[in-house]
Amino acid sequence: MSGTPAYELAPNIWRIPVATSDGINAFVVKAADGQVTLIDGGITQGWKRLEAGFSHLGLDVSDVTSIVVTHAHNDHVGNVERVRKASGSPVSAHVDDATFLEAGQCPPIDPSRRFRSLLERFGRYDKITVSHTFSDGALLDVAGGLRVLHTPGHTPGHTSYFHEPTGVLITGDVIHYWRSQIRIGIKVFCHDIALNEQSAQRLSQISCDTVAFTHGPHISENAQGRLHEFLAKRA
Ligand SMILES: [Zn+2]
Ligand SMILES: [Zn+2]
Repeated sequence: MSGTPAYELAPNIWRIPVATSDGINAFVVKAADGQVTLIDGGITQGWKRLEAGFSHLGLDVSDVTSIVVTHAHNDHVGNVERVRKASGSPVSAHVDDATFLEAGQCPPIDPSRRFRSLLERFGRYDKITVSHTFSDGALLDVAGGLRVLHTPGHTPGHTSYFHEPTGVLITGDVIHYWRSQIRIGIKVFCHDIALNEQSAQRLSQISCDTVAFTHGPHISENAQGRLHEFLAKRA
């Protein structure tokens, strides 16, 4: 296992790469009162990387006090039930993805895609007990406030998060960053490709200092400018 176990995006908010080359990321937010929030858990094969990320922060997965997820895909929630059991912490998700999470299923893939039933079967993961659901605009009680931005399309309940105190935007899979370029979200498992494209434009409403992706490294230099430039070209 190589690479940095965790990157500090801003004070008390970190990105943990749970696959090689920043291929998949989970995030940890630590609050002054000791609360530890995990955003996504990554793919099951990334468990050791997740543990290494926590250990780098002087924490253990059992220290997690709440879990929130971006969406019901196995590369992001494959470890969530395991962390939930290890920590006893509640899982929160957007109401439109909750039934898929509880069933351990990938939402239906866009009808234009080939092999979708095979991919849907391949995309299964451990069923997750969801304690709380939220909808668009909610402000979650996470280290001064984590704003819920419902960005449907990739999945029905796909959620991007904006940590208001630090200006960190976590896009989820609506867009990603690969080979030094922002790109539209990966289409393979996308539920509604056209809706995902519309949702991406929503991110231009956010004034952020750092843009972090569930796939790819984060951007801290001119992050908002680069994000807005990418979105303006596709609008
Ligand atoms: Zn996804
Ligand atoms: Zn993904």
